[in-house]
Amino acid sequence: MEIHLMGSDQRVVRCARVSFARDEKTDELRDKRLIRYLFSHKHASPFEHNVIAYRADKDEWLSLISQIDNPSVQVYYSGGYIFLNLRNAVNVWEKLPDEVRKKLKERFPTTHLIVERRGRVSDEELFGVPYTRDASFVKEKLETSSGWVGLVDKLELGTDMDYYTFVVECPLFVARQWMRHRFGSYNEVSKRYVGTEFLEFYIPPYIRKQAKTNKQASVDEPITNSKELLSRVKELISNAVELYEEIINSGGAKELARGVLPQFMKTRFYWTVPRISLDNFITLRTHEGAQKEIREFALRIKEMVGYRGTDKKNLL
Ligand SMILES: Cc1cc2nc3c(=O)[nH]c(=O)nc-3n(C[C@H](O)[C@H](O)[C@H](O)COP(=O)(O)OP(=O)(O)OC[C@H]3O[C@@H](n4cnc5c(N)ncnc54)[C@H](O)[C@@H]3O)c2cc1C
Repeated sequence: MEIHLMGSDQRVVRCARVSFARDEKTDELRDKRLIRYLFSHKHASPFEHNVIAYRADKDEWLSLISQIDNPSVQVYYSGGYIFLNLRNAVNVWEKLPDEVRKKLKERFPTTHLIVERRGRVSDEELFGVPYTRDASFVKEKLETSSGWVGLVDKLELGTDMDYYTFVVECPLFVARQWMRHRFGSYNEVSKRYVGTEFLEFYIPPYIRKQAKTNKQASVDEPITNSKELLSRVKELISNAVELYEEIINSGGAKELARGVLPQFMKTRFYWTVPRISLDNFITLRTHEGAQKEIREFALRIKEMVGYRGTDKKNLL
């Protein structure tokens, strides 16, 4: 059977550790314990960044979905392959073909053991089981004026459901726009956990003009007092950081202290997205009506993995 997998045990951990802005760190036993913790506490979203595709005909797909009495499980069919992410695979484990389960065990040995044993695995057993890692942090990284995007992995089979995982660092307002793209999975830095150790801000080169024709848009030219206003923006950020630190140093909760930080603050997130949704993102966010900062990201992504026009299948 032709089976393709994207991800590793470490991918689950990376997408969980981004909450702490520690997604680059590895420590095998801690990582394995974290997977056990995530599974046992139903912190499920980090598992979504791992994808399984296997050759099947439409009847096999229909037979599989007809056995699933759970409307939250998503199993897709595209280009002669069944696609599902690891979270969905865990939820339909017994219904998957034996060969698929065997491959899952090889690729995700730690996760597999934890799932098979429903989380009841001792530290000694965890110590003995193999652990798979990503070959690199990112395969390719491109900068934009407000951040960067890295290609973590891709699973390209020439279908509308080919999958891509990116790691993105961008200002909050860009992330807000990005996460409106719901068809895909996200895991992001949490300002409930992370304090001053990850505290960066985007400062635009100048303050752009508001467009006259389009209420949402801007004109890429500086306003006359851009320099003066920009130095006040910097002063505001510096004052906000000072107050933020004071709240934290006084024993205040990070989850409240973050309220004083401006939207120019950067965040980091993992985004795993199927091609049809990625193409939709590229179409909408490279359009001149999109905000300049997110447009730059969409152009960098297009440069990295291309655009295939699969989103044109949708009328609406
Ligand atoms: C220039 C611009 C301005 C915008 N302004 C605003 C704004 O002012 N306020 C605001 O809230 N948003 C705004 N948006 C966001 C916009 O409304 C969409 O939410 C966003 O672009 C994501 O698009 P999408 O829904 O096609 O993508 P996704 O959410 O990724 O969905 C991908 C595809 O899956 C299907 N799909 C997903 N969910 C559903 C569903 N529940 N029902 C049916 N089909 C579904 C659709 O075919 C969709 O195209 C703006 C976007 C742009 C590009």
